[in-house]
Amino acid sequence: MPELPEVESLRQILARSAVGRTIVSARIGEARLRKRIVADFASAIAGRQIVRLSRRAKYLILELDGGHVMLVHLGMSGSLTHRGEGFIDAEFDPKHDHVEFALDDSSRLVYNDPRRFGMMRLVARAALADAPELKGLGPEPLLREFNGEYLAAKARGKQVAIKNLIMDQRIVAGIGNIYASEILYRAGVRPTRRAGRVTHKEIERIAIAVPVILRAAIGSRGTTFRSYRDSRGQPGRFAARLRVYGREEQPCYRCSTPIKNVVVGARASFYCPKCQK
Ligand SMILES: [Zn+2]
Repeated sequence: MPELPEVESLRQILARSAVGRTIVSARIGEARLRKRIVADFASAIAGRQIVRLSRRAKYLILELDGGHVMLVHLGMSGSLTHRGEGFIDAEFDPKHDHVEFALDDSSRLVYNDPRRFGMMRLVARAALADAPELKGLGPEPLLREFNGEYLAAKARGKQVAIKNLIMDQRIVAGIGNIYASEILYRAGVRPTRRAGRVTHKEIERIAIAVPVILRAAIGSRGTTFRSYRDSRGQPGRFAARLRVYGREEQPCYRCSTPIKNVVVGARASFYCPKCQK
């Protein structure tokens, strides 16, 4: 499932290749995503230029000329690929290429989503801050407003597991299951600890680990499990750098103790029982 680093990697790649291009036409193969794509979507974006690409949490925001933005969420298995000359389509099942934009340089921007949990819709730029998808989201984890003081205030008195706290999108936007495990390993805190019982020092370590892990993942263009490919159709390379996620029973890189897997909030959570207190 794409998390913040995957979406940010995608944004950076598309910002280089797709910004400045004009959408000549759009073909909607399958409108039934998590939210149905509205009937006039294709006609509303035809002729629009992509002027900027931004991101909020796990949402990609394609800013178009003419006062609208396209809000895109990749869901569980979505990918948005810019397919020009030399793009290798082999990794993608054309059956799941649900939306395709033809661009003015004969390249294509293709939304592929086998499980169809993604979404794509137009929002007036002026109404973006009030869009229900974005309203109520916590701060961006890579910005200064997210820090130890902030996280400590949010953790105070909370019974919820610390891992669930940092995955709560209202607390901090964009952290999902893979990176939450990696962040807590780096910070030396067990995922099952009650947030209100985590010490201030540990909270500080978590807040510092958040951007370190996310930036490293962005630098590797994310983690690939089956479905995620970046906009060139390449898999992310961060899977090779995961310290605990998916490593149940394998020795900890730091102390050789076998990594454990516990279920926290219905999600698999990996940790080292010796390095994480
Ligand atoms: Zn260890």
